[in-house]
Amino acid sequence: CGIVGYIGTEDAKEILLKGLEKLEYRGYDSAGIAVRNGEDVRVYKEKGRIAELRKVVDSNFETSTGIGHTRWATHGVPNHENSHPHQSESGRFTLVHNGVIENYEQLREEYLTGVTFKSDTDTEIIVQLVEHFSKEGLDTEAAFVKVLKLLHGSYALGLLDTENPDAIYVAKNKSPLLVGLGDGFNVIASDAMAMLQVTDTYTELHDGEVVLVTKENVEIKDIEGNVITREPYKAEIDA
Ligand code: GLU
Repeated sequence: CGIVGYIGTEDAKEILLKGLEKLEYRGYDSAGIAVRNGEDVRVYKEKGRIAELRKVVDSNFETSTGIGHTRWATHGVPNHENSHPHQSESGRFTLVHNGVIENYEQLREEYLTGVTFKSDTDTEIIVQLVEHFSKEGLDTEAAFVKVLKLLHGSYALGLLDTENPDAIYVAKNKSPLLVGLGDGFNVIASDAMAMLQVTDTYTELHDGEVVLVTKENVEIKDIEGNVITREPYKAEIDA
């Protein structure tokens, strides 16, 4: 299983699909991508190989922002509905997640009894909670941080918000995730290998950090909101 993300100016669909192919070695049962299309986000997902996903991705539009996922099912059988990306009730938020959320049932009972879930995954609680807290008036970053503080378990996360379309919101806990730096674009990936196609410069992320990735900038903060600076490194390319 693995995660990729791209925000920049090139064709995000192809970069994400190539990135997911590089992550195939990690094992997976389903795959999906979500890409920005103007004010909207389009989701494509399929059970099975990346080759199957490729067949359903509509190539007739331009997009330069998106997130991708290969799933190794832990909660909910491998099928279309349970494949990532997952969306909130209104469709405003779109999420990919690797890992396991141990307290998703308790969180659902505590906060979201009125919300109809679309999947059987533990993941969906995260994206529905972000929407829940943003409806209560928090901005997206604050809602995301509030949710992170409630989660027990492991996660690498990439989140899109149609109302803040120029950013990918990112966080991790006990699951690998890196930020890759480019000239006029930035990426996220579980493994640098996935994105060596576009950059060899990476910054590692630590558990508990909250990261805002735009095409010009990567802002890393700790969970209390203090900005963190960290030197990037060059990934070794051994083909
Ligand atoms: N627990 C999540 C699910 O079953 C994510 C699994 C993964 O890491 O791919 O959908």
